[in-house]
Amino acid sequence: MIYGAILGDIIGSVRELHNEKSEDFILFPRESHFTDDSVMTIAIADKLVHDDKALCNNRKAYAMWYRQYYRRYPNAGYGQMFSEWAREDGFSIQRSYGNGAAMRVTALGYACKDLQSLWKEVDDSCYYTHNHREARNGAKAIATAVFLANKQEDKEAIRNFIERKFKYVFQPLDEIRDAYVFNSRTSYTAPLALEAFFESSSYETAIRKAISIGGDSDTIACMTGGIAEAYYREIPEKIMMDGSRYIDVGFRNVINDFMEKYG
Ligand SMILES: [Mg+2]
Repeated sequence: MIYGAILGDIIGSVRELHNEKSEDFILFPRESHFTDDSVMTIAIADKLVHDDKALCNNRKAYAMWYRQYYRRYPNAGYGQMFSEWAREDGFSIQRSYGNGAAMRVTALGYACKDLQSLWKEVDDSCYYTHNHREARNGAKAIATAVFLANKQEDKEAIRNFIERKFKYVFQPLDEIRDAYVFNSRTSYTAPLALEAFFESSSYETAIRKAISIGGDSDTIACMTGGIAEAYYREIPEKIMMDGSRYIDVGFRNVINDFMEKYG
């Protein structure tokens, strides 16, 4: 649980600036590192384990957990808009349509009992930072894919459901790849992360396909990785082993607690 998203982020980290555009590459070059995608994914997981609901309303609670993790890991490569918001004194409402909301929702797909409560949680998780229809829609689409994958729905059913519910149009990666350029808008990344999963046959092929698109690679691979792990149920041991040296100890503790509560 959740490791799939974190490892996707780490594998994508060095490709964000040096796009790969192929499925054949070394998974963990030495400069690999976790980025904001991992930090915020863990922030949500930690909230779902430790949040005391009595303290404040749920939307504000998400915002506070994001800020706490931002302060703990200030140099993880956040977007400028998010960084400015995280350093504010008050809690203003940002209307970003960036993929920052969709990149962090993996844990919600495991923790929520049904789709209605999942979508409500995703809305709350978006309220202060991504109060924009496009960002909310993408975050729900990714979280829904994790939820259905974890329930072992088949890929075709997941694809049809997401097409209908979120009005996403999926196109084969081979038709997109050559002309695709960097864009961190939700609608330019979340559908492609899903398509990489739909075309995959294992966790590893899912990640390789996600990276092969180019663009915002750490975020795309983080989203694909979260879904793929939920669906395939395992990450190859070699990838876990090679990737584990880049995973922060603090992350590991949160994931352990999360698995204990929701596993
Ligand atoms: Mg990142």
